[in-house]
This record gives sequence, structure tokens and C-alpha cells, in this order.
Amino acid sequence: MLNVRNLTVSYGRHVALDGVSIEVTDHEMVAILGANGAGKSSLLNAIGGRVRIGSGTMDYHGLDLTKCSPHELVENGIALVPEGRGIFPGLSVAENLLLGANPKRARAKVDQLQEEVFALFPKLAERRTQIAGTMSGGEQQMVAIGRALMSSPDLLLLDEPSLGLAPIVVQEVFAALKGIRDKGLTIVIVEQNARATLALADRAYLIESGRIIGSGKAEDLKNDPQVVRAFLGGA
Ligand code: ATP
Repeated sequence: MLNVRNLTVSYGRHVALDGVSIEVTDHEMVAILGANGAGKSSLLNAIGGRVRIGSGTMDYHGLDLTKCSPHELVENGIALVPEGRGIFPGLSVAENLLLGANPKRARAKVDQLQEEVFALFPKLAERRTQIAGTMSGGEQQMVAIGRALMSSPDLLLLDEPSLGLAPIVVQEVFAALKGIRDKGLTIVIVEQNARATLALADRAYLIESGRIIGSGKAEDLKNDPQVVRAFLGGA
């Protein structure tokens, strides 16, 4: 269980998160929906140890995340795929993937992890020797997700995995996300593609101006007039 309580994050005077609380049960897929600038990335980056928090608590299976470095988080099964991917453009696909397998929990089963990534993303198997920086945006996103999976995570934090991708590639990425969900990983996902995300997720939180303004089962939110109006392009 991931338990985030009363989290605040500020950048100088700007308060990006103002008392955010979320709970994510093991094996659940939870979406964070909100407009641009609502604080979605700040929330994921705080959980993933990339942003300094002001106050609040974050606990994962008894581990105090507020005291962990990004390295310790990965060692403990928490992997973040940041917005903008952050892969190594000068290295091959296979080299990028191998760099993900650094935690102790991953080292003993690198081959198995790589086979699992290749099963999810067959294109990466075909392109394993290609220099990552020469791949399309969608392929680079697959490398980024694949690299996170190589750390053998239990909890995967995904920030806008479909951002900027062509519709056909978005479908490919979502198909892989379904595969990852079906493996039983716990997933927290920030996505602008709310419809596709709610189709996969168990639950979602709605965030506005740094505050949680609602939450519910994905099934119910799909038909909630406020959600339809704000996120699903409804009238
Ligand atoms: P988007 O979908 O546009 O990425 P978001 O919901 O993920 O938005 P955040 O990226 O968390 O929102 O940003 C929340 C607020 O904090 C925004 O007003 C943003 O401009 C601001 N912000 C984010 N990062 C920084 C930073 N490093 N320095 C200053 N302000 C920041």
C-alpha cells in the first residue's frame, strides 16, 4: 500500500501541491487526472524522490519515502518514468534497458526481465542494437518504460506516457500498459488521454490547483458529468 498524506510541494512561492492525500492498494492502477499545471507531475515526482517536499508523509509498505534517495526508491521497487522520457540517446536500446537493471533485486534476473520487456514491446527486440536517440518518439517512450521495468519494480509511476505520440503509437503504448497492469504491478499514471486511461485504471483522483477535488472508481468517473465535461471532451 502506498499512502500519501497531506503532501505539500512548493517552488519558491508557488504552491504546486497543497495538502494532497492519496492511497494506492497493491496491484491497483490509479490515474491522476487534472488540467495543465494542476500539480500531477509534482505529485509523481514527489513520490519518486525527484522533488523536495514541504510537508506531509509518504509511506510504502512501511518505508518512509520522504527519507529515501531516488536510488533507494528504485532498490525498493519504485520506478518512475518521467515526462520527457529521459533515456540515454547515444546508447543502444539494449544498453538503455541494461542500465535499468542496476538494483540488486534486478541483477539476478536480467535476462528474464529483458525477455519480459521484449514480450511487451516486440519492436524493442527488433531494434535492440539501434541507437535510442535515432528512434521515433513512441519507440523512445517504449525504451523509457522498458528501462523502468528492467529495475523489477512493484510500483510503477508513469508521467504522460502517451504525450506527443501519434494516435496509432498511443494505442501501442496503451496495449503495453494493459499488459503491465495485467502482470499485477501497482501503477500510478498521469495521462492527458483520460478516456483510454480510465478504460484501464481501477480508480482515479482529480486534481485541481494542487488539491484533490474528487476521486472514485474509474467506471463511475467515466460517466460523471463533471469528469466528462473536463476530461472526456463531452458537452
Ligand atoms: P502539466 O500537465 O502541464 O505537466 P502538471 O499537472 O503535471 O502539469 P506540475 O508540472 O506538477 O503540473 O506543475 C504544477 C505547478 O508548478 C505549475 O504551475 C508549474 O508551472 C509549477 N512548477 C512545476 N515545476 C516547477 C519548477 N521546477 N519551478 C517552478 N515552478 C514549477
